Amino acid sequence: MRDNIVAGNWKMNNDLAQTEELLTKLKLQMVKEPEATVMVAPSFTNLYATFQALKGTPITVAAQNMHESEKGAYTGEVSASMLKSIGVTTVIIGHSERRAYFNETNEILAKKVQAAIDNEMTVIFCFGEELEDRKSDKHFDLVETQLKESLFQLPQSAWKNIILAYEPVWAIGTGETASPEQAQEMHKHVRDLLNKNVGKEVAESTSILYGGSVKPNNAKEIFAKEDVDGGLIGGASLNAVDFVEIVNSF
Ligand code: PGA
Repeated sequence: MRDNIVAGNWKMNNDLAQTEELLTKLKLQMVKEPEATVMVAPSFTNLYATFQALKGTPITVAAQNMHESEKGAYTGEVSASMLKSIGVTTVIIGHSERRAYFNETNEILAKKVQAAIDNEMTVIFCFGEELEDRKSDKHFDLVETQLKESLFQLPQSAWKNIILAYEPVWAIGTGETASPEQAQEMHKHVRDLLNKNVGKEVAESTSILYGGSVKPNNAKEIFAKEDVDGGLIGGASLNAVDFVEIVNSF
């Protein structure tokens, strides 16, 4: 009953020409009816071209970030309505790089999520612990705090537009993945938290993606776990062959 989702987070990579080249390859190689909902998240400058290029394909487009305000004096920022005006209705919020390098706190992320929901957008909400948290056995509590402070104030009706992405920071871009068992253990913990704090229906219907060094050679065993509903793919999503192979891992 839950959607399988594979989303490619292109981060700050690829200029327009490189983006167009990657899109051409993706369109050629992606099966017509993938077993998962497929999304790609280019940089702001390439969002419009990507949206146009992917019309009529099974691949949808997400933004990597947005500002929580509707408009105004926020130099360098982009709002939900601006994204929607070019056809983009999904946004990644709370990526660990935003948290670490741009000081996005749980409180700020709560506002961003609320703004996205108010604009009827879909949110891919990222969370996850750092290596120190895991070593000191605080990872379950830390994730609980991240979810509690940014998401658990939402009304139940908002949850149909929330996708969760567990991304242990120590596994992002490091080549070190969480084992399928570690991913499953955290995803189960998150589903239990949803059950307790939001409700059984939301717990059962919310897709929880795993992110952190997912590659063609490990996607299948990670996606096979009961509470893992897909992946948020960084590095491997920049290569069309690898990304399509990951999508085909369901
Ligand atoms: P990675 O990145 O696949 O390169 O580890 C995942 C992410 O940051 O979403």
